[in-house]
Amino acid sequence: MKNYYETLGIEKGASKDEIKKAFRKLAAIYHPDKKTGDEAKFKEISEAYAVLGDDKKRAEYDAYGSAYNGAGGQGFGGFGGGFSWADFQQAAAGQGGFEFDLGDMFGEMFGGGRRSRQNRGRDISIDIELSFEEAVFGTVRKVLITKNALCDTCKGNGAKPGTSMTTCATCNGQGRVREVRNTFMGQVQTVRECDTCEGRGQTPKERCSDCAGAGITRRQEEIEVRIPAGIEHGEMIRMTARGEAVAGGTAGDLYIKIHVKKHPSIRRDGATLYADLHIKLTDALLGTTYKVGTLDGGVEIKIPAGIKHGELLRIKGKGVPSQGSRGDFMVKVHIDLPQKLSRKARKLVEELQEEGI
Ligand SMILES: [Zn+2]
Ligand SMILES: [Zn+2]
Repeated sequence: MKNYYETLGIEKGASKDEIKKAFRKLAAIYHPDKKTGDEAKFKEISEAYAVLGDDKKRAEYDAYGSAYNGAGGQGFGGFGGGFSWADFQQAAAGQGGFEFDLGDMFGEMFGGGRRSRQNRGRDISIDIELSFEEAVFGTVRKVLITKNALCDTCKGNGAKPGTSMTTCATCNGQGRVREVRNTFMGQVQTVRECDTCEGRGQTPKERCSDCAGAGITRRQEEIEVRIPAGIEHGEMIRMTARGEAVAGGTAGDLYIKIHVKKHPSIRRDGATLYADLHIKLTDALLGTTYKVGTLDGGVEIKIPAGIKHGELLRIKGKGVPSQGSRGDFMVKVHIDLPQKLSRKARKLVEELQEEGI
């Protein structure tokens, strides 16, 4: 493996200043224009400094340097084409940075080894429609979902029951395959998931007949969804790992979007429920009791004499369950005036009028 630290003759923990000094010292010796010049050597130290002299690239090199196979080492001249000695002098003198972005190239070269790509199944998203009451009190819903699931017969390993697994011949059980690529920086190793075993490192000796060795079958699964009390229209429930399964990886998630149907007479605002109550004028004047339909059945409420039109009456604890208790049920009172008065009623009202009411 190529060691940039060795190339510059410094310790791995060298400071930025030490790196810069080491490069300048060596560049002064090996630059091709100098008497002591050595083009190959100069390219080597330039390459080392291009990486170690940049914090971000140095960190990448420190982290992934072992994946770098420095068999080549020539071809530094290919860096963005117009990279010159002047650029290096400027950089070494601390004036401006390097113009090219080695980070991208590193990302490309070491991408395979760096992000150990986690094999994950797709998420599934479904919709559930609830009645108003179900949303308020919570419920359990069973849903049927057709999805890729682990094969029941082989439990996902793809082997015929009773037979064993064997080390994958393609990747020797590593689950990953190394590839050597030629790049301008020389030969570079990249790592990718093994196609034969899909990253599992093992293959079945005899294939499971139900899934043809895939470990995955497409089938219908019944899933019990627990819907918590007080859920609101538009909320989302996430069930981890209940989405599509994938061989040798983790299943995706199941997302359930909640739709709540309207109630014919009850409205909701958070933990509070609202309903309208129409009362007669005489009941408003004299006071009485009325029965109000709540989600817990009929509840009698007292109408105090002289109640105002639009007044709100509270029924405690008949609202939406919330944090161990329940919200309230509010009753909005509407006083209905008679549309037409009988001769007798008219006479009585006129008497009231004389009373100053
Ligand atoms: Zn199977
Ligand atoms: Zn393999």
